[in-house]
Amino acid sequence: MDYDFVVVGAGPVGSLLAKRLCDGGGTVLIIEEHAQIGRPFQCAGLVNPEAMDIVELHDTVLTSIWGARIHGPSGEVVSIGSPDTVRTWSVCRKLFDESLLQDALKSGAELWLSSKPISAKQDDYGVSIAISTPTGNVDVRCSILCGADGAHSWVRRNFRMGRPKEMMIGFQIEVTGYVGEEGRLDMYTGSEIAPGFFAWAIPSGDTTRIGTWSKADMLDGNSPEQLLNTLMRSPLWKRRFTGCKEVGRFCGPVPSGLVKHPLRGRVALFGDAAGLCKPTTGGGIGPGFNHVQATAPLLLQKSRDDLTQSGLEAEFAKILEPIRKDQMRAKALRDAFLTQMDDEELDDVFSVWSKPEVIELINEIGEIENPIPLGIRMLREVPEFRSLARRAVKAVLWG
Ligand SMILES: Cc1cc2nc3c(=O)[nH]c(=O)nc-3n(C[C@H](O)[C@H](O)[C@H](O)COP(=O)(O)OP(=O)(O)OC[C@H]3O[C@@H](n4cnc5c(N)ncnc54)[C@H](O)[C@@H]3O)c2cc1C
Repeated sequence: MDYDFVVVGAGPVGSLLAKRLCDGGGTVLIIEEHAQIGRPFQCAGLVNPEAMDIVELHDTVLTSIWGARIHGPSGEVVSIGSPDTVRTWSVCRKLFDESLLQDALKSGAELWLSSKPISAKQDDYGVSIAISTPTGNVDVRCSILCGADGAHSWVRRNFRMGRPKEMMIGFQIEVTGYVGEEGRLDMYTGSEIAPGFFAWAIPSGDTTRIGTWSKADMLDGNSPEQLLNTLMRSPLWKRRFTGCKEVGRFCGPVPSGLVKHPLRGRVALFGDAAGLCKPTTGGGIGPGFNHVQATAPLLLQKSRDDLTQSGLEAEFAKILEPIRKDQMRAKALRDAFLTQMDDEELDDVFSVWSKPEVIELINEIGEIENPIPLGIRMLREVPEFRSLARRAVKAVLWG
């Protein structure tokens, strides 16, 4: 073998994976198709505290986010959070990605930039990969090939490992001059600006990232860019956007719903390539990190074994089962509370959410990254939500 592991993709998940594998004694080659790290990126830059604790990159934080203003379709605003509890961090993604890669290199990983796989085949003993590099094609052999190559993963397609269950589209611009509140992000709902999902304005240091996401089949012929323009011109909110000057724009897919074969023989998928984004927020960094933390020790332990007898696929699937179930439950609740509601129903929900006792409950147990406990408590304790309970329970059980 030339290497124990080849990791395709030097995004945040690929870099953390490479570091963990090196720290555990593996030899690792990272190949990245771009000439530089962290560009282009498609991300609002939110990293939750749990994920930040894993990598400790607080020096990449642009703004600490402690609260949110959530807007109903007709203008009801629910403000939540308190400055003494940071809920999530808004980071500089370029710095974040670069720092993670630096850590992997310090741990001993080798990096080939401007390089990508052009063919790969596995047999009982390893994986042979032909890699296109700036100096010509190179053949490399490794024990295990790891695809951390993003939403459109070449590794996933080449080895027919399945598809993420949902592929949302995100569109975002970075602006100066947005009128927001320090430390609070804004979420906007409504069929005209984010059908079935939400739009956002996230403070990121001197700028604000304004975006929207939805599913292609819900856009009704509109482009995500048109939806964002509708938000910025809406009579309800336009005064917040009138002074905005665009300094950047990003558009990208959000794959959610674990693929059928996250590991096939000697090939494993990680992060967006595996379909790990949260169905509720689109966040992919936290789930991607959790997956790496949970599975890297197993890969290290098995990499030099005869995998035909090792039961690795079953063990990998077992570790991923809670992630798969969590994603399904979160999607079911999202569908029941947001995606399948029309604007009138959403307005009704917002009129209940804006009650002080409900805001108190949200502040107490609400978590952007894990809305299930809050959803369940609200269904149980808020009388107006009981009528929704049947739909939500059905969705969670059968969705
Ligand atoms: C608009 C938008 C906003 C988002 N906001 C957030 C957010 O606030 N918080 C959050 O957690 N998530 C967010 N996400 C999702 C987040 O960006 C991804 O989940 C995250 O980047 C996944 O990391 P990754 O390492 O798996 O993949 P990526 O970051 O996509 O990295 C993959 C890497 O692989 C490289 N690559 C791809 N193909 C090849 C190839 N064939 N050969 C070699 N290299 C290759 C790419 O160049 C890239 O460097 C957002 C997504 C969108 C679209």
